[in-house]
Amino acid sequence: MNYRHSFHAGNPADVMKHAALARVLAYLNKKENAYRVLDTHAGAGLYDLDGANAQRTLEADSGIEAVLAADLAGTLPKPAAALLAPYLDAVRATRAGGRRLYPGSPALALALSRPQDRFLFCELHKEERAKLEKRVGEDPRVKILPQDGWQGIAAHLPPRERRGLVLVDPPFEEPGEFQRLLAGLEAAHQRFATGIIMLWYPIKDLKAVDAFRRDVARLGLPKTLRVELDFATVRSLDVLSGSGLIIVNPPFTLADEMRTILNALAPLLARDGQGRARVSWLTPGG
Ligand code: SAM
Repeated sequence: MNYRHSFHAGNPADVMKHAALARVLAYLNKKENAYRVLDTHAGAGLYDLDGANAQRTLEADSGIEAVLAADLAGTLPKPAAALLAPYLDAVRATRAGGRRLYPGSPALALALSRPQDRFLFCELHKEERAKLEKRVGEDPRVKILPQDGWQGIAAHLPPRERRGLVLVDPPFEEPGEFQRLLAGLEAAHQRFATGIIMLWYPIKDLKAVDAFRRDVARLGLPKTLRVELDFATVRSLDVLSGSGLIIVNPPFTLADEMRTILNALAPLLARDGQGRARVSWLTPGG
């Protein structure tokens, strides 16, 4: 396991994924009942954008930094800015101490939820897990598990609260990740059919992405939304040219919200200033 998210924190893929995460939590927060978030590949929780790894790639410059700058300048279209406000406010709050920090999915989920909600974070890498412990481990709502995230799906679903989100965000450093993602989706849905299940995948190898989408559609789970953003022209199978999410049982508002958000962000996040967002149902939704 060589993957370290600190090289990529706050990049365009993170922005798209975390913007969607924030909208899902905003929806879950509308009902008083508690929910649970299972984050199967949690990462270190918080990242220093001035640290050596982030500085080596500068990926956040064309991601969260570009979005924060546009928000500050008031150049984001108003409807998108309003939908992004909870996410961007949470990012700004992590910087209140003056350091350029970026919240990973665990820190963001905690910032955007309530005292009654509960969180399970699986992280297999020992050092990343130790950082996560340090950053969010004291929060009484949180359990951090040294567990394989794929096994976590079988072990922890359905949650006691019977409502919530499963976020599956694997590193894609080993072959076979699309197949594991597909199997993870099926297992999560079998155990927690009413839960919101959100999977992230990279857009690099277009054939692999097409095959994955077809496989997901073939599962025939009701209400399966595909959200994708291209931020570069595909040149090589090794270079991330876009970012994708599959969301099963999304809030009924999410498809429209993500269209509004990504149409506004696409020109900002794209290397050629164009970008392209795609939001569509793989199986019938709302
Ligand atoms: N979800 C995080 C976020 O949005 O901030 C980023 C997660 S990063 C893409 C993937 C993480 O999964 C890495 O920290 C890696 O150490 C961890 N990991 C890799 N294989 C794993 C497994 N089988 N189970 C749990 N964690 C794993």
